[in-house]
Amino acid sequence: MPGESPKTGSISPAACKLLQAIPKVDDFLGVLTDSGHPVTTRSKNIVRQVLEECRQAILAGDLTDKNELAQPKLIARFEARLAARNTPNFKRVINATGVVIHTNLGRSVLPDSAMAWINRVGAGYSNLEFDLTTGRRGSRYSLVEELLCELTGAEAALVVNNNAAAVLLSLETLAKGREVVVSRGQLVEIGGSFRIPDVMARSGATLIEVGATNRTHLRDYEAAITENTALLLKVHTSNYRIIGFSSEVPLPDLVTLAGRHDLPVMEDLGSGCLIDLSRFGLPREPTVGEVVASGADVVTFSGDKLLGGPQAGIILGRKEIVERIKKNPLNRALRIDKFTLAGLEAVLRIYGDQEDALKIIPTLAMLSMPIEKIKARAQKLIRQIKKPLTDHCFAVTISAFSRVGGGALPEQDLPTVAVALTPLNRSVNDLEKSLREYPEPVIGRIEKDQFLLDMRTVADHEINQLATTILAVLGTDR
Ligand SMILES: *Cc1c(COP(=O)(O)O)cnc(C)c1O
Repeated sequence: MPGESPKTGSISPAACKLLQAIPKVDDFLGVLTDSGHPVTTRSKNIVRQVLEECRQAILAGDLTDKNELAQPKLIARFEARLAARNTPNFKRVINATGVVIHTNLGRSVLPDSAMAWINRVGAGYSNLEFDLTTGRRGSRYSLVEELLCELTGAEAALVVNNNAAAVLLSLETLAKGREVVVSRGQLVEIGGSFRIPDVMARSGATLIEVGATNRTHLRDYEAAITENTALLLKVHTSNYRIIGFSSEVPLPDLVTLAGRHDLPVMEDLGSGCLIDLSRFGLPREPTVGEVVASGADVVTFSGDKLLGGPQAGIILGRKEIVERIKKNPLNRALRIDKFTLAGLEAVLRIYGDQEDALKIIPTLAMLSMPIEKIKARAQKLIRQIKKPLTDHCFAVTISAFSRVGGGALPEQDLPTVAVALTPLNRSVNDLEKSLREYPEPVIGRIEKDQFLLDMRTVADHEINQLATTILAVLGTDR
């Protein structure tokens, strides 16, 4: 406890004196009451923390000046901690990393109209599970099913908490206690905790690996099919790419083979995009609609990757199969909540016009953004910071590369424009840390001893705030 005499003999007399100068908790609480801070459970906890912090600092030799323990100093420490406690842990940050679908920074940014709809629907009662035509109980899935079918050509659809849940639920429904054939090259791990073999095990299905890591042939699948086979599974190798001597079986061939054996085919698309983005310099990937048209019986993908919506798992497929998945009791544990559903419906509605989607959905807008527009953002930032930073930091615009992120299109470098900061009076690591720890944090990256702010992922309306933060952190004002 603070104020207690130290137990070891190795403490210097000076440190001992300092330790004795730490006030008792109750005495300090008295001081706080006098200075207008009410005594609460929280303030007591903070007082204990502050006094303990002082004790540790003395023992570590970091606190050697008795003035640091003076009342005004201790009150200031208390107030700083109290202020930190009162700010939310979950904060808005400025993403200047250039990684568009940044899983650690919340993946997709929702369009304003989707946020407004979440607000509108969430602030009152809604027809979440109420059929307004019959006046009876309805299904939450029906709110987006028709839209999803219209946009992808699927017969039926349902949505769950995320794509991991979509895969788990689909496998559990279709293959529990039976075998699922997958190519060895597609046994991927996504973001550390989602591994196809592990999810398969949890679903109660048995994984039958076929082919070699780099090549799998149709005959490999064929040889693995037994009377115990429930499903052929194809997994999008989202976050890595096998290059060189490699091949995988195209979905239509898999569908033909499965058809001969009366088996369903499932594809876990991971990112699942509704629009072909190849005209923006991204690689040609089959759209969700094309995968459905190829004859996959079940298709799963994320709501917050290339779709640009909220976290969700979308399951599309043949009506009879989707109905079985809907009825699985596990579904209840994985279900989507009403806010997410409102956001998802709003985003899906924007896809009614593809050109609108590319403009309005932030994920798509950032991925398809012309370089001139990114450059204009960089120049706008430079104009605001260059002069005030003259004696503190070099600031220039440079060409760099952004990433799609979210495990989507891993090899794809997108040419971009970044603002590169080279601080003159401190290290670049120190600048990175200060921006990251600022009350409204800015996250960028260090490259070649420069701090890069990739303007692709900084929204127009964030540029003024970004400039203010940079100037504040570098100790200058406009
Ligand atoms: C991202 C991904 C998942 C997991 O999706 P979440 O929405 O993050 O749960 C599963 N499979 C593939 C192929 C993925 O790319």
